[in-house]
Amino acid sequence: MANLSIFEKIVNGEIPCNKVAENDEFLAFYDINPRAKIHVLVIPKKHFENFQVVDSNIMKAMTEFIHDTAKILGVDKSGYRLVTNCGKSAGQEVMHLHFHILAGENLDCAKL
Ligand code: AMP
Repeated sequence: MANLSIFEKIVNGEIPCNKVAENDEFLAFYDINPRAKIHVLVIPKKHFENFQVVDSNIMKAMTEFIHDTAKILGVDKSGYRLVTNCGKSAGQEVMHLHFHILAGENLDCAKL
């Protein structure tokens, strides 16, 4: 398939990632350009361009996967910021749905 996003190539195994968690439907991996001490991306393996077009049934399972990823990272109790950029004017660069989990020190740069 032409014009696959970077994240679809990661799902396909064409591009490596630094994996945090994975199951049949979702993948969590470290952001290549971290904006916080902990900066992890969570994606569905199925392609959705962004949050606006995601199947809401997928979001239920994705929410549980994000909870589990936060536990693996050890930030479920201390706290984290969860961000998705939806569309070009929101700054979305990779056109495959992803949530940023940002935690630890140096969170100011990502503060709203
Ligand atoms: P966004 O601006 O919300 O689309 O965020 C895209 C994110 O993907 C940015 O934080 C990038 O640093 C990150 N990114 C791009 N390519 C890779 C990659 N190959 N592995 C991990 N993270 C990546």
